Amino acid sequence: FFTTKMQEDSARNLKLSNDLSHALEKNELELFYQPQLNTKSEKLIGAEALLRWHHGKEGMISPAEFIPIAESNGLILPIGEWILRTVITQAKKWIEEGFEPIIVAVNISAVQFRQKDLPQMITQMLQDVGLDPMYLELELTEGIAMSNPQQAIDIMDDLHERGIRMSIDDFGTGYSSLSYLKKFKTYKLKIDQSFVRDIEIDDDDKAIVKTIINMAKSLGLVTIAEGVENIGQLEYLEEQGCDEIQGYYYSRPIPANAFERYREEYQKNR
Ligand code: C2E
Ligand code: CA
Ligand code: CA
Repeated sequence: FFTTKMQEDSARNLKLSNDLSHALEKNELELFYQPQLNTKSEKLIGAEALLRWHHGKEGMISPAEFIPIAESNGLILPIGEWILRTVITQAKKWIEEGFEPIIVAVNISAVQFRQKDLPQMITQMLQDVGLDPMYLELELTEGIAMSNPQQAIDIMDDLHERGIRMSIDDFGTGYSSLSYLKKFKTYKLKIDQSFVRDIEIDDDDKAIVKTIINMAKSLGLVTIAEGVENIGQLEYLEEQGCDEIQGYYYSRPIPANAFERYREEYQKNR
C-alpha cells in the first residue's frame, strides 16, 4: 500500500517538476497580495506577495507543494528572479498610480538566499524600475542560518547596507538560537500562524506569543502576527502590543487588480 502511494507521489512530483519548467513561459504563474495592517490604526502598511500556479490541467496548485519542488530542481532561481522583478515593478506602479506607498514583502527561499550576487541583483532591479529599497522587504526563515550562520549574517549585512528590509518568517518554528537573532539585520518578526490559531483557548500559545512580542520589543523589532482569522485573536494580539496583523480576518491573498480595489475601498472608508 505504502509503496504504491509513494510511487504515485514521486510520479506526480516528477510530472510537476517537468511542468514547472514551462510554467513561466506559459504564463501560468501569478502573484497574489495579502494586506498587512497596523493593529491600532488599522491602516494598511504592507502586503505579502504569495505565488500562485495556475496549472493547465490540474488547476491551482499550492505553493506549499510546488515551492519545495522548485527548490530541489533549481527552478527556484529563475522563478525567484521573476517574482522579485514582478513585485518590484508592481510596487512602483502602485506608487505611480497615486496609492500611498506600502512595503511589499517577498518570500525568499534558502536556496535563493544563497544565490551568488542576490543583493547585487536586487539592487539592479530596484534601480531599473526606480523603486526606493525602503518599499521592499525580504521574508527569510530561520532555516537560512542553519548550514552556515556566518555566511547568512554576511549576506544580511550586505542587503541591509543596500537599504533592503528583512523580516524573519514563521518565527518560533525554526531552530535558530537567540544569539543569531541579535546579529541578524532584520527589523521585523512574523509570529507563526501555528501560535495564533488557538491563541484564544491555549494558554501555552498565549504565553509563547506574549513572550515573542516582549522579546521583540526589547530588541527593537517590529512584530506582525500572521494567520489572524477572527476578532478574538486580534483582541489578544492588540492587548499584548503586537504591532501588525495579517490574515483572513482582513483579507485573503488576492490578485493585484483585486488588491487595488481593496485599497480604493479601504482608503475611502477611513
Ligand atoms: P508563508 O510564507 O508562511 O505564507 C503564509 C501562508 O498562510 C500563505 O499560504 C497564506 O495564504 C496563508 N494565510 C494567510 N492568512 C491566513 C489565515 O488567516 N489563515 C490561514 N489558515 N492561512 C492564512 P500560501 O499562499 O499557500 O503559501 C504557502 C507557503 O508557500 C508560504 O508560507 C511560503 O513558504 C511559500 N510561498 C508562497 N509564495 C512564495 C514565493 O513567492 N516564494 C517562495 N520562496 N515561497 C513562497
Ligand atoms: Ca511568508
Ligand atoms: Ca509565514
